This record gives sequence, structure tokens and C-alpha cells, in this order.
Amino acid sequence: MKFLVGQIPGGTAVFLVSGDSAINLTEQDSSLGPDLLGVMTSGKTLDELQDISTRGRSVPVASLKPALPIASPGMTICLGLNYVDHVKEGGYEIPKYPVFFMRTQRSLMPAGAPMMRPACSEQLDYEAELMVVIGKAGKHITPEEALNHVFGYTIFNDGSVRDFQRKSHQWTSGKNFDATGAIGPFVVSRDALPEGAAGLKIESRVGDEILQSATTSDMMWSVASTISAVSEFAALCPGDLIAMGTPPGVGHAKIPPRWLRDGETIEVEIEGIGICANPVVNEVKL
Ligand code: MG
Repeated sequence: MKFLVGQIPGGTAVFLVSGDSAINLTEQDSSLGPDLLGVMTSGKTLDELQDISTRGRSVPVASLKPALPIASPGMTICLGLNYVDHVKEGGYEIPKYPVFFMRTQRSLMPAGAPMMRPACSEQLDYEAELMVVIGKAGKHITPEEALNHVFGYTIFNDGSVRDFQRKSHQWTSGKNFDATGAIGPFVVSRDALPEGAAGLKIESRVGDEILQSATTSDMMWSVASTISAVSEFAALCPGDLIAMGTPPGVGHAKIPPRWLRDGETIEVEIEGIGICANPVVNEVKL
């Protein structure tokens, strides 16, 4: 099943997507709440959600303005350096343990929203990534059990400001500029994708310029092993998000570097999930 959290007058609602049309689930059952966290904590099964959708009327998906699938994720944790060829293009050593970093909520925005090119840097870069949406709480989760904790998968563009990322050995500033990390618009339930979302084509592009093109099978740490590794040190809760790292082809590794420019639209596509497209807009200094 495919979900989209969309903006409605006065808030947001969860839509069930089928082809080019969508049905407002929240309108049919207000207990589902305004985003996917409400759906997950409602205890409703996918079959029950399908039943609820039969009572609603269809609207065109194209008429919906996406919102964040999870309005306030408790944790947005990201893997760096999870594709060998991306590690090499960045001049890093192959890590022996997953390289984790966090993103703040204000650095995130939905698909369709402007991606802000900061006033203080010209080095805004894109990173196409698979993103895991956790649906079930757990701690000390084994790799064998890990995929049972996944609600579904979405798309992430881990927008990065490279000169700030490399000002120190902590990546926090370069990875947390306001409105640089795009999520969505669709979340696909795990049963509708291959196990661990492996083997999916992942691509980023501006217009017909293909910037990155790879498969999620190239990830060094799988979704299952990553969930297990995170849950060793932090309890996972429904609505937590895990970004799985980016394949080679990022702008800073190209010769000359290929930074995002005002007026461009950056797209990230993952097979079976959809396209996350965001216009790049120069920050206006207040
Ligand atoms: Mg990344």
C-alpha cells in the first residue's frame, strides 16, 4: 500500500494512494490522525485501512500538496558512507562500523517544498537515499527480527552543504541547514517492496541530467543490520526515520563540482516508491 500525507485546510491528512488517485483516510476515520504516526499507533491493519478507504471519494494525487509523512519524528538518524563507490569518491576509508549522524526537524521539508540554497555557501549538494520508516518499537533488535519493525519506505534527499560539512570532523552543521533535507512524498508499506527494499534502482537528476544512478543492493549495511545497530544504543519508536546513505555521483565529487543552483528542480527517484522533487531556491537573508 502507498500512503501520502497531504496538506488540507487547517492541517494535514493521510491519503491512501492507488494509481493517480488518492482517498483521504483521516476524513473517514479521525482516530487515524493527521500523519502516519497516527496511523501506525492506531493499531489498524493494512486490510482495515483498505476497508476504510472504500468509504471515501477519490481525488487526483496531482492535486495534493505533500506534507512530511511524520510531522515530528522522534529521531531522524542517517548513515553516511554506506555505498563503497561513494566512500571512495569522498576520499574516505571504508568504515568498520556504520557512520551515523542526526538531522534536526527544521532541516527537513516535504517533497515539493523549496530546498533552500543558503546565503553563506555555494556548495549545496544532493544525496539520493532510501529512508526507512519505523513502525514498531524495540531495543536490542536482532538482524533477523529487524524488518518486522519497519512500517515502510520513502525517499530522502540528504541535502548537504559541503564546505560546512568539512569544516570539522563532525558533520552536524553541513547536514542541518534549514530546509535542505527532502522527504516523501510517498511511503510504501514494506509488504509491497522486496525484502529490506533491496534491488531497487535509485537515481537523482536535474531535468534530463542524471546525477546518480545505482541500486539499493549496493548498500554495505542492509536495512536489517542498520536497524539492529541503531537499536543497540537507542530505543527505536514508531515514526523514527533512518536514512540509508547515498550512492556515488554527488556534486562535490564531480569535476568540476556540480552544486545545485537557484531555479533548478532536484529529483530523487526510487523504483517502486516514486519521485521526490524539490525546487532549489536561494535563501533570502532577513
Ligand atoms: Mg547522506
